[in-house]
Amino acid sequence: MGLKLFNTLARSVQEFAPLDPAQKKVGMYCCGPTVYDFAHIGNWRTFVFADLVRRYLEFKNFQVTHVMNITDIEDKIIKRVRELKIPLRDFTGKYETAFLEDLKTLNCLSPHQTPRATEHIPEIISLIEKLIARGIAYKASDGSVYFSIEKYRGCGCNYGQLLKLNFDEMRTGERVKSDEYAKESIADFALWKSRVPDDGEIFWPSPFGEGRPGWHIECSAMSMKILGASFDLHLGGEDLIFPHHEDEIAQSEGAGLQPAGQPFVKYWIHGAHLLVEGKKMSKSLGNFFTLRDLLAKGFTGREVRYLLLTAHYRETFNFTLEGLAGAKTALARIDECVGKLREIAGNTAAEPEPGSWGWRLLDKFSLALSDDLNVSRAWAAIFEWVRDNNLFYHVLQDEQIRGGDTMRTAFAVKAAAEIAAWNKIDSVLGIGKKAEAEIPAEISALAEERIAAKKSKDFKRADAIRDELKLKGWTIEDTPKGARLKKL
Ligand SMILES: [Zn+2]
Repeated sequence: MGLKLFNTLARSVQEFAPLDPAQKKVGMYCCGPTVYDFAHIGNWRTFVFADLVRRYLEFKNFQVTHVMNITDIEDKIIKRVRELKIPLRDFTGKYETAFLEDLKTLNCLSPHQTPRATEHIPEIISLIEKLIARGIAYKASDGSVYFSIEKYRGCGCNYGQLLKLNFDEMRTGERVKSDEYAKESIADFALWKSRVPDDGEIFWPSPFGEGRPGWHIECSAMSMKILGASFDLHLGGEDLIFPHHEDEIAQSEGAGLQPAGQPFVKYWIHGAHLLVEGKKMSKSLGNFFTLRDLLAKGFTGREVRYLLLTAHYRETFNFTLEGLAGAKTALARIDECVGKLREIAGNTAAEPEPGSWGWRLLDKFSLALSDDLNVSRAWAAIFEWVRDNNLFYHVLQDEQIRGGDTMRTAFAVKAAAEIAAWNKIDSVLGIGKKAEAEIPAEISALAEERIAAKKSKDFKRADAIRDELKLKGWTIEDTPKGARLKKL
C-alpha cells in the first residue's frame, strides 16, 4: 500500500510519489534549530516528527537524504553575542552541540547533512544575485536587499501557495524595524540586511555591501544546494508556514531554477503546535520545558519520545507531566513483553512468520502509518500484540517447565519470530530497549550467595538475602533459566 500524507500545498491528503523516476530516492528538508538557546519541548515535537517521517520512509524502502539546517546567524544570536562579548562561533557552537546531544537523547537519527548558514554565504549571495537579475529583488536606500512580492506576482507567480493571504493586511502585524522603512512595500522581506552598528563584527562582504543574510533565504539556498532546485519533502512546525515557508517558495521559485513544470517542493508537511499543561508554553507560567528540564525531573529521553509519538502530527497536543508518567507505565508494559520474548528466544534467530501475531502487527502498523501517519491506530495494534504475547507467555511458562527439548525449541523459534517483527516496528518508532540498570557488585555478590544458600538447602539464609536485596531496592525473580535481578 502506498503512503498518504497531508500536503499543505494541496490542502489535502495525497499519495506520496517521489520525483525520482525510479521512485526510490527521496530528498527531505526540515527547518532546523536557531542555535541561541536550548531547544524546548515544542521544538522537539517537530524534530521527533521529522524523524518518524524519515524512519517510516526508510521502512517503506525509500532511500532518504535528510537535511536539517542550523541557523547560526540571526537577530537573537547577534543580540546575545553582543551582550556576552564572545565570538559568534563560540556562542552558537555551544547550543549546536547541545542540540545534537538532545537529538541523540531522543533517539532521533542524525540527519545526513546539517549545513550551517554561516558556511553558505556564497550560495546565499548567488541566489540573491539571481533574484536581482530577474527584477524580483531590489537594493533599497538603507543598503539592504529586499524581495518584492509585487514584482514576483507580476511575473505570474503565486505568493500564498500554502496559505490564502489577504494582501491588504499582510505583515502589518509584524514588527517593522526602523531600518526596514526603506522597503518599497510593507509586504517585502529582507534577503540581505546591511550592516548596522549593533551587528558589531558580525558581517560578510557581498556585491550589495557588507551585511548578513535574512533568515528565509538561508533555507532556500541550502536546501536547493544539497537536494536540488526541486525536491520531495519539506517539513517544519505549522508556525513556519507563514511567512518563512511562503518566503522560501517565493525566493526559490522566483530564481527560476526548477525544471519546467516542477515546484520547489512537492510535499509540504507541517506538524501542529504543542501545549504544555493545557496552555501555550511560557516561562512566566512555569510550563516552559527544555528537554534538559525534563531529564532533571527524572524522566528519560525515551519517555519523552514515546509521549510525543502518541499524538497525530496534525493535532494540537497537550503535553503534561502526568502524560510522561503514563509513558513510563506504557513503556514498562512493552519492555516486559519484549523482555520475556527475548528470554524464551535465547540465541534463536527467526524472521517474522506469516500468520503470527507479529506478522499481523506489521500489517496493521504499516496500514495505519501509511494513512497519513495514524499513530493512534499503530499504538492500538502494538498493545494488542503485547496482550496476545503476554497470554502466550503464561501458557508457555508451564509448558516449558513440563515440556521437553523439542517443545522448548519450537517456542524459542516462535518467540524469535515475534521479536523480529517487533524490531521492524521499532526501527520506525525508535523507542528501543530500556537501558539495563547496572547491577552493583555488592548486589550481584548477594545474589550469588543466595544461589549458593539455596543449593545447600539453607532456605532461611536464602530468604534473608531476598529481604536484604529488597531493602536495597532489588528484587530477585526465579525463572526457568535461573534467578534474575530486577531493580524495584
Ligand atoms: Zn527554514
